[in-house]
Amino acid sequence: MDDDMADKRDYYEVLGVAKGASEDEIKKAYRNLAKKYHPDLNPGDKDAEAKFKEVNEAYEVLSDSDKRARYDQFGHAGVDPNFGGGAGGGSPFTGGFDFTDIFDSFFGGGFGGGRRANPNAPQRGGDVQANITISFEEAAKGCKKDVSYQPIETCEHCHGTGAAEGTQPKTCPSCGGTGQVRINQRTPFGVIQSTQTCDRCHGTGKIIDTPCKACDGKGRVRRRKTIEVTVPAGIDDEQILNVSGRGNAGANGGPAGDLHVYVNVRPHPVFERRGNDVWCEMPVTFTQAALGADVEVPTLDGKVSYHVHEGAQPGDVFRLKGKGIQGLQSRTRGDQYVQITVEVPRNLTEKQKELLRQLDADTGDRNYQKRKSFFGKLKDMFSDQN
Ligand SMILES: [Zn+2]
Ligand SMILES: [Zn+2]
Repeated sequence: MDDDMADKRDYYEVLGVAKGASEDEIKKAYRNLAKKYHPDLNPGDKDAEAKFKEVNEAYEVLSDSDKRARYDQFGHAGVDPNFGGGAGGGSPFTGGFDFTDIFDSFFGGGFGGGRRANPNAPQRGGDVQANITISFEEAAKGCKKDVSYQPIETCEHCHGTGAAEGTQPKTCPSCGGTGQVRINQRTPFGVIQSTQTCDRCHGTGKIIDTPCKACDGKGRVRRRKTIEVTVPAGIDDEQILNVSGRGNAGANGGPAGDLHVYVNVRPHPVFERRGNDVWCEMPVTFTQAALGADVEVPTLDGKVSYHVHEGAQPGDVFRLKGKGIQGLQSRTRGDQYVQITVEVPRNLTEKQKELLRQLDADTGDRNYQKRKSFFGKLKDMFSDQN
């Protein structure tokens, strides 16, 4: 553990919340502190800037249930990416709210838009999209999937400065690092002072003499990346997994954006999802339906044996409790519904046909309830006509 890490304040202390604080409490504390220390409200205040970074860092960890668990167990070492074990794949459905929200509502306008943007203010990185296709079973049971996407990352050669290794960007002498210059214009109505983006540094406030070759001086590179994402059991087709902090890198110490993973679930040849229940059809033979039989029913947990009762009819539905899909929120499993279809035998031999004729001769309407009731209902109609 290096000195930096030993100096770090406790993240709960940074946000001023108790160790067992709820997600809401953490989010609230963060919003308040982020507003208080935002560099746009404290221009040139180095102390506020440092606090702002500290607050963001604490929130990035405590808003992510995975990282928070690691932090609770191992302290800063558990979440520092430079430390063995490192910050692993973000967890879905945690943290991730739009950072720009706060400032939009606060300043009554777009973050950075419409007003003079401080070139050195922390900015959140953008969100990135990716797609995955998983099987019906993977969606039902949850899985881990590699997701490939192309986020913008901080250039590792220049650590985001844009300056070649061994050099540093200089503060722009024309604007003193603000990225803006004041211009006095003489007009017939007098001298008008206006503010313009600095020509020399193009508003960045910095001059780079020797740009980093790896990123052309941009400090950021777009790179294909593959991370493992935990897909929770019960996810459905067209749902979106939010992996917080895995989007584009932020600027000036701002947090990274999120990765949005769009989930496609392949249809299953036999199972169909309805809410958290699974439906399927179960073909039984004419004889099995007539006599009753033990059959093997496929479920998400493998085959289950079920006794089809004697005299089962096509369309009869039976339920296998708890054999459905794990609900994302409910934490309980749905049921499986099995609808019986009866298959009439085809391509019978002459001998088989003869056996059936004998059966038919021996059975009357008492053996066929539906048929009996069908003609029973029509009896008056036919007798009227006769
Ligand atoms: Zn670079
Ligand atoms: Zn400048």
